Amino acid sequence: MGNFIAPKEMYFGPGSLEQLKSIKGKKAVIVTGGSSMRKTGVIAKVSELLSTNNIVVSNFEGVEPDPSIDTVNKGTKLMLEEEPDIIIGLGGCSAIDAAKAMWVLYEHPDYNIEEAYVPFSIPRLGVKAKFIAIPSTSGTGTEVTCASVITDRKNDVKHPLVSYELVPDIAIVDGEICASMPSHVTAHTGLDALVHNIEAYVSALNNPYSDAMSEKSVAMIFENLPKAFANPEDIKARQAMHDASCMAGYSFSNALLGIVHAMAHQIGGLFGIPHGCANALIAPNAVRYNSKDTDRYTKLAKIVNGDSSESFAKAIEKLNKSVDIPSSIKEYGVDEKLFIEKVDFLVENALKDPCMGCNPRVPTSQEIKKIYMACYYGDKIDF
Ligand SMILES: [Zn+2]
Repeated sequence: MGNFIAPKEMYFGPGSLEQLKSIKGKKAVIVTGGSSMRKTGVIAKVSELLSTNNIVVSNFEGVEPDPSIDTVNKGTKLMLEEEPDIIIGLGGCSAIDAAKAMWVLYEHPDYNIEEAYVPFSIPRLGVKAKFIAIPSTSGTGTEVTCASVITDRKNDVKHPLVSYELVPDIAIVDGEICASMPSHVTAHTGLDALVHNIEAYVSALNNPYSDAMSEKSVAMIFENLPKAFANPEDIKARQAMHDASCMAGYSFSNALLGIVHAMAHQIGGLFGIPHGCANALIAPNAVRYNSKDTDRYTKLAKIVNGDSSESFAKAIEKLNKSVDIPSSIKEYGVDEKLFIEKVDFLVENALKDPCMGCNPRVPTSQEIKKIYMACYYGDKIDF
C-alpha cells in the first residue's frame, strides 16, 4: 500500500493570501522570523484579513534561521497563555518549522520533544488548533510536508521531525509574498526544490502521484528559476517557483529523499554551506553515481531535452551556473586541508543520515568519500 498525505486545503496564486478572510476561529498566533514580514507589511495584512471574522491575533516574532529548541519552548509558552485555535507559520521555512514544533508542544504540553526524533512518533495534532502555513521562500515546501527541522544548539545537532501529523491543515502559496527574497536565496531555495523532486523521483518509495508532481515541478524550475533569479519583480516566475517548490514538497513528503540530502546535510552543518547550495553542489555527481542502479533520470532528462542520465547531470550543472552556484565545494571557499581532514567524519555521518535509507543505490563509505572528493574539486565521478 502507498499513501499520499497532503493538507486538506491549498490556495495558490498572486493574492491568494486573501483567502484568510474566510477562515473561522477565535484566536490566532502568528509565528514568524526576522523583520522582513513586518517590514513588507505582510503581518499587518494577515492580521487585517483575520479580523474580518473577528479573530484576535497575537504574534511570536524573531524565529532565527535553524530554529532552536529554546525558541520552540518560548513560542509554546505564548500559545499556552493565549490558547489559540489557529496557529499560523508565516515566513521562511525556519518560521514554519518552528511553528510546527510549537504546535506539537501546545497540543501536548507534557510531551518531551526529544521523543519526536523517532520518525512517525508524534501523537495526534489538531485537537486544540488548526495549522495554516504561509511560506515566503520557495524551497522546502514545508507548507505541505510532514517534516520540520529543529536544532539542538547545546549539542550542535539538527533534528528532523518527521510525522504526517505535521502536515499543515491549510497552505497558502502566494507568490507576491516572495518578492522581497534576495537573489541568492531565490537560487538556493529553488535548487533545493529541484533536488527534492529528483530525489523523490528515484527514491525507493517513488509512486505515480509523487512522480507526477516531480515531473511537472522539474519542468517549471528549469524554466522559471533563472527568470526569478535575474528579475525578482517577475511575479509570474515567482509564482511558478512558489508552486514548483510546493509541488516538490508534496512529492518528497510522500516519497522521501536520498543521498544528496544525506551528504549535503553534513557539509551544511560543518562548513555552513546553505542547504540548497549544498544540495546543488552534490546533485550532479549523485545523479552519475545512482544512474548505475536506476534509469529513471533518463525520464527527467527528457523534460529538459536530454536523452540520458549524464545529460540530466549536465543540465543541473548548467542551471547551477546560471544562478551563480560555485562549480565545486572548493570554489565555494572551503579550505582544502580542512576538507581533507574532515572528509571521513562527513562520510560517517552521511551514512547515518535518515535520508540515505531511500536512495536507489546503497553506497559504501569509500564510494561516498569518492563523491565528496569529486564534488570538492569539481570533478566528474565515474564509477
Ligand atoms: Zn532540502
